[in-house]
Amino acid sequence: ATPMSIMVGVGKGAQHGVLIRDAEALERMEKVDTLVVDKTGTLTEGRPKVVHIEPAPGFDAATLLRKLASVERASEHPLAAAIMADAQARRLQLSPVNDFDSPVGQGVVGSVDGTRVVSGSAKFLKESGINVDAVNAVAEGFRAQAVTVIFVGFDDQVAGFVGVADPIKMNTQEAISVLRSEGIRVVMLTGDGKTTAQAVGRQLGIDDVIADVLPQDKAAVVQRLKAEGRVVAMAGDGVNDAPALAAADVGIAMGTGTDVAMESAGVTLLHGDLMGIVRARRLSQATMRNIR
Ligand code: ADP
Ligand code: MG
Repeated sequence: ATPMSIMVGVGKGAQHGVLIRDAEALERMEKVDTLVVDKTGTLTEGRPKVVHIEPAPGFDAATLLRKLASVERASEHPLAAAIMADAQARRLQLSPVNDFDSPVGQGVVGSVDGTRVVSGSAKFLKESGINVDAVNAVAEGFRAQAVTVIFVGFDDQVAGFVGVADPIKMNTQEAISVLRSEGIRVVMLTGDGKTTAQAVGRQLGIDDVIADVLPQDKAAVVQRLKAEGRVVAMAGDGVNDAPALAAADVGIAMGTGTDVAMESAGVTLLHGDLMGIVRARRLSQATMRNIR
């Protein structure tokens, strides 16, 4: 495209909250045939709330939440923020945490009042030597309702789980429908568990769901699709999405997300509104038509 037509396209995008950083992103957008999209904070609002607390037999909800929040206080994850908000609303007295660790995309672990508290995915608890069977059936019922389940272990026993819900953003449904009707293949890519991810996918008509993905593996999925000959746009908001945004033909960051994501992307959607992807495609088509 000519510099002039690119400038016009970039200007029109900016008027609609679509910030286009490089000319290549604008040129490639019309050729995109696959959209890989992160779940939390991209399809959903990214402001999760605690909707359920389930202590395992022999444990009580107040202790469960108090020790959990004491560990999550040291985490910057949106799930930790949800737990902290709930603990604050209940005015729980938190304890200091020792030996804190937070393996990315898995959970957190720390010592609280002499108890080793492990919080995270079922996989993370299993790897930490904790069997979650005592609460897993109840948890599965919540997951089927699109709730994210955070398992909590005290020492080597499961103490229960916390259910966290994150509503789908207002314009997500429309954006996904339009893109699909234009023949774009939509793939959800998330670190969350399979049942929860599929429940969100079902609400949006996305049946291509890749769940339980570690941050370092998100970029590999994008690379694989490119190797299959697809022209891939990747939309995401988190630090864990940055490598995948950089690997995609067009990286699309949510303006509501982290700076690292925006720095790795060619396009930023100012308000995190996914209809911006539809607009960016229209602009790309108009820009490229002008110069042919
Ligand atoms: P996403 O791809 O949806 O943005 P992440 O890669 O950030 O998800 O996290 C993946 C999973 O790791 C979460 O669904 C959760 O099970 C676990 N996890 C991450 N951080 C925490 C935390 N602070 N507390 C508990 N669990 C966590
Ligand atoms: Mg995210």
